[in-house]
Amino acid sequence: MKTITVFKGDGIGPEITDTVIDILKAAKAPLEYECFNVGAAEYERHGALVPDDAFQSFEKTHILLKSPITTPIGTGFRSINVMLRKKYDLFANIRPAKSNTAVKTPFPNVDLVTFRENTEDLYAGVEEKISDDEMHSIKIITRHASSRIIRAAFEYALSHNRHKVTCVHKANIMKLSDGMFLSIFREIAKEYPQIESDDKIVDNTCMQLVMHPENFDVMVMPNLYGDIISDLTSGLIGGLGLLPSMNIGSDYAMFEAVHGSAPDIAGKHIANPTALLWSACMLLEYIGETDTAKAIRRAVDDVLAEKKYLTPDLGGTAKTEEYRDAIIAKF
Ligand code: NAD
Repeated sequence: MKTITVFKGDGIGPEITDTVIDILKAAKAPLEYECFNVGAAEYERHGALVPDDAFQSFEKTHILLKSPITTPIGTGFRSINVMLRKKYDLFANIRPAKSNTAVKTPFPNVDLVTFRENTEDLYAGVEEKISDDEMHSIKIITRHASSRIIRAAFEYALSHNRHKVTCVHKANIMKLSDGMFLSIFREIAKEYPQIESDDKIVDNTCMQLVMHPENFDVMVMPNLYGDIISDLTSGLIGGLGLLPSMNIGSDYAMFEAVHGSAPDIAGKHIANPTALLWSACMLLEYIGETDTAKAIRRAVDDVLAEKKYLTPDLGGTAKTEEYRDAIIAKF
């Protein structure tokens, strides 16, 4: 049994978390759950966005399943996500995007994974006012941060039977910063002769992605390109609704849906829990429980393909609970 920390979040957060835990339990996932109310609603109730015992639990378990949190306006935090990434040095943001039979798009053959560096680049927050008419934002790329995200991408490719890693950059223009990122990529690629490697300039990558997404497998890139490209890949598979993600560092890992807290549908029993459920599958794979993850993925794929119990965001009329029960019935 592995104990994990669970943050229930805001809006649809608590309902999709409960649904996912019901499915994990039905699939006999060998997990124990330490659950905490975290977020804007918790702040209203007890004056803390993240209670101390929630932090302490994560620092003990090192594994967090997090549901979406409403970013409060007017308090000290930019967002809990940014705070968690910084506090626990979650340097890699990993988003798989895979076409699904339940969502019709012009791109039926997408199956790719984006590795976005999470800690530096233009997001380091180094900005300078030169005059009223001139502002500078500094792009920071370090050998340390670049090496670890690139290595993480190759290790993932190796352990997930992926065949290629593509480095996305703009080294033709930013010869020093992106130039170093690319040269580190080429060095590390030599350590993985069994994995094909190539590189593409970011603008060309955008064009290639919407013309031939099937040519991409694992992609690794600095922070800003990762932010943009990972949303582009969300669009290829039909939007954010079915996108899981994981954020990993050397000591901690956090798994969450890409979508937000959807306050417009909270409490209506129509939230789609799939993105959080697939995030939980990534968690299971991360701790080596690949068979349980496979069983859940197969059950979800079957229910989505049957199209009988789809939630309204996928064009169906099923309640969250009906969708959950249809998945559980497959075990
Ligand atoms: P959102 O993703 O919450 O919602 C966008 C639209 O998608 C809404 O119409 C919503 O009903 C729908 N939707 C989202 N998830 C769904 C699901 N699982 N099932 C069915 N429909 C779903 O984006 P938003 O409205 O811009 O943000 C709402 C709040 O969430 C904001 O406070 C934002 O800061 C926060 N947010 C949090 C995270 C996070 O914690 N990781 C991520 C993004 C946004």
